Amino acid sequence: MSPLFPALADISPTAADRPALRFGERSLTYAELAAAAGATAGRLRGADRVAVWATPTLETAVGVVAALLAGVPAVPLNPKSGDSELGHIVKDSAPQLVLTSPEAELPSALAQLERVDVDVQASPRETPLPTGPTADHPALVVYTSGTTGPPKGAVIPRRAIAATLDALADAWQWTGDDVLVHALPLFHVHGLILGVLGPLRRGGSVRHLGRFDTAGVARELDSGATMLFGVPTMYHRLAEALPGDPALAAALGRARLLVSGSAALPVHDHERIAAATGRRVIERYGMTETLMNTSVRADGEPRAGTVGVPLPGVELRLVEEDGTPVAAYDGETVGEIQVRGPNLFTEYLNRPDATAAAFAPDGWFRTGDMAVRDPDGYVRIVGRKATDLIKSGGYKIGAGEIENALLEHPAVREAAVTGEPDDDLGERIVAWVVPADALHDDLAAELTRHVADRLAPHKRPRTVRFLGSLPRNDMGKIMKRALKDAQKDVRK
Ligand code: ATP
Ligand code: MG
Repeated sequence: MSPLFPALADISPTAADRPALRFGERSLTYAELAAAAGATAGRLRGADRVAVWATPTLETAVGVVAALLAGVPAVPLNPKSGDSELGHIVKDSAPQLVLTSPEAELPSALAQLERVDVDVQASPRETPLPTGPTADHPALVVYTSGTTGPPKGAVIPRRAIAATLDALADAWQWTGDDVLVHALPLFHVHGLILGVLGPLRRGGSVRHLGRFDTAGVARELDSGATMLFGVPTMYHRLAEALPGDPALAAALGRARLLVSGSAALPVHDHERIAAATGRRVIERYGMTETLMNTSVRADGEPRAGTVGVPLPGVELRLVEEDGTPVAAYDGETVGEIQVRGPNLFTEYLNRPDATAAAFAPDGWFRTGDMAVRDPDGYVRIVGRKATDLIKSGGYKIGAGEIENALLEHPAVREAAVTGEPDDDLGERIVAWVVPADALHDDLAAELTRHVADRLAPHKRPRTVRFLGSLPRNDMGKIMKRALKDAQKDVRK
């Protein structure tokens, strides 16, 4: 297969000094990255699989690039995972080595692995690397976020990485001149494949903030960065900060591309950002198993609340429960998204049953996400089949549009909607609300009316519960499983 990183494979004198990676104060040019990754790759010889202690550091990025150069599948580990989750992943994926920064303290769950400290200032390797892993060769084993169950290790071949990054380049007009502002973790597809490998494949550069803050985003966009990749919680914070921060609005207004993914971007935040900056956030939709499926295109019409159109090479269909394609793309008929294409994973590691269950009999991958499609092909995600589709009074109701309606109310800071068994309705709609200010007695009734005024009356919540915060994972995704557990306790 052709190299994943042409700019690293052939360091021409003109390209050698181009910036590649910057994390905080430390940075590497393409020539320095080629040397450091080459040196680390040389130390991986003979390993079947390597874990990467994926802190948001230069060492993690260099370590993953090294593993890809060496053709050794890499397993990024979330440093915030507890010992039991790490123990599960290490046992499941069985790496021999762990790549890490020299100063990192590794937990006992990794004690049996040989530790390799990445030296980001290493000089070039002397022995040549094995060349030409095939397109099917496993490049990464990425564990899913665990939103709906224990994380599963998705085996991602080199082909999928190349295909998804090139499809995004087409959709986003993404080039080597782009400079990305990055503040995401490096153990998921979004932060690692899109946020680090993407710019490197294009020959562009990444500036990682270490942790997200609105001032850092403004500073980088003011000093030459062109794009921001974020999750909805980041765009929410930007939307909240914008009214009091004209410099931030000006900085975001200069960005070539603001991209959101990993969960649905609330329409309210999208609109507030557009009003304050003149820029519309582009939403894309993907999964660990499929990498990227759809995106609003940079040259297309941005539309709040949609994830755009299938990326080049990706086939997408919506199916009914019996597996037949939905009758119409009319913006109303809900079906499960199924996809096919070069962007797909190969299998769940050690889970042949889960792998088989994930594919329809005719080979399409079942995403478990429900959506409608507008007549012109734009996909609107309704939510996950397992937690976001509420069957109430004979209707199938998506949690997302009710959440969007609630978030438009000034007294609502955060909102999540779930279904709960109900004798009359089958399921009743329950709204979980983090209030913006002090509670008042009539707020629940007021919010119910607010939803009923905006959406059809059957979509109004029957119960409103107030919380101090919503349970979220490290990507800011709302853990509806945890809400449902809390719900059981509250109902008693
Ligand atoms: P697990 O599979 O372990 O339950 P997870 O599905 O959250 O966890 P990921 O693969 O990281 O793990 O997330 C993919 C899911 O995130 C998609 O299936 C979809 O539900 C959601 N998602 C991603 N992007 C978007 C988006 N733009 N809008 C709505 N949902 C999105
Ligand atoms: Mg999933």
